[in-house]
Amino acid sequence: MGMTKENAANGCDNNSGVDMIPDLYAASLSMYTKPPLVASGRHITVTRRKLLKNLEVNSTQRITSWVDSMRASSPTHPKSTHSLTEDNSSSWMLHHPSALDTFEQIIDASQGKQIVMFLDYDGTLSPIVDDPDRAFMSNKMRATVKKLARRFPTAIVSGRCRDKVYSFVRLGELYYAGSHGMDIKGPAKGSKYKKGDQAVLFQPASEFLPMIDEVNKKLIEKTKSTPGAKVENNKFCVSVHYRCVDEKEWTELAQQVRSVIKEYPKLRLTQGRKVLEIRPTIKWDKGKALEFLLESLGFANCTNVFPVYIGDDRTDEDAFKILRARGQGFGILVSKFPKDTNASYSLQEPEEVMNFLQRLVEWKRLNL
Ligand SMILES: [Mg+2]
Repeated sequence: MGMTKENAANGCDNNSGVDMIPDLYAASLSMYTKPPLVASGRHITVTRRKLLKNLEVNSTQRITSWVDSMRASSPTHPKSTHSLTEDNSSSWMLHHPSALDTFEQIIDASQGKQIVMFLDYDGTLSPIVDDPDRAFMSNKMRATVKKLARRFPTAIVSGRCRDKVYSFVRLGELYYAGSHGMDIKGPAKGSKYKKGDQAVLFQPASEFLPMIDEVNKKLIEKTKSTPGAKVENNKFCVSVHYRCVDEKEWTELAQQVRSVIKEYPKLRLTQGRKVLEIRPTIKWDKGKALEFLLESLGFANCTNVFPVYIGDDRTDEDAFKILRARGQGFGILVSKFPKDTNASYSLQEPEEVMNFLQRLVEWKRLNL
């Protein structure tokens, strides 16, 4: 509790928000890419001097910072920078209260506005599992999302390729934004929110497809010798999962990945939960995807729209930031641990996400 109506209404708790540029990402792009670039919505100009400075850093040091960054993105690790004390944890909860506990305030804030739902997949609708191919959502969750889509325009926004995330969700009435929003497709069937006859299809990085394919093959070959490493081709982005890689091997894995991507200045490295991701250096992320989808739904310059974005990952922060900047709706971070975030509310796990979605559906049903 402790959230005022105004706070909930503008999705802002007066935190200016934390700019999170993963060290790993900064290191890789300052080494290999040309300015100007955008990281998490912020322009980074890599000057020649900076480039030289980075080149002087010996490779051992740089790999160390990669691995540190890999550790920092694994919140369950005991040495994690996110393992805060109990005091900090309760103060974090004050700033990011449970969306279930504050459900009434959220509903109040959305009065008279069209709620639009954006849902990340892994760790939000499905539990995080060791094998990314087995990240299934429960039938109960699927039924809930189906009901949700009947009441509100709903989009799945995932780092995975669109086909893959569709194969997990299997609901034709949703919008899907795969590969961190670089592959967007509107509802195939049965959505009253579908605009016109033409299906929305948007792929801002299609020219990168052959390059991504090539990098995918090289990464599979290179990381073969690291037990547990799993390379996944997400069409517009290649993911190297290290959830099942022994921590002693992380340095080796980071070196392998770097040896491949250094040949590709047009690709950059980002990271999520126990995953390194290689994607095109275009100004596109989950936040841009959110804005594109709002526009496709006809809410481009609307003041009466209330977007709610639920996600658990660092890459979801781009969307949380957009919502803060627009002063519309808000983000909900799915996390059991306090984390730096631009989200306004929190939910602990997919089970709680489901309860929240069920309450939204039920509220809408009673208030039609
Ligand atoms: Mg996720």
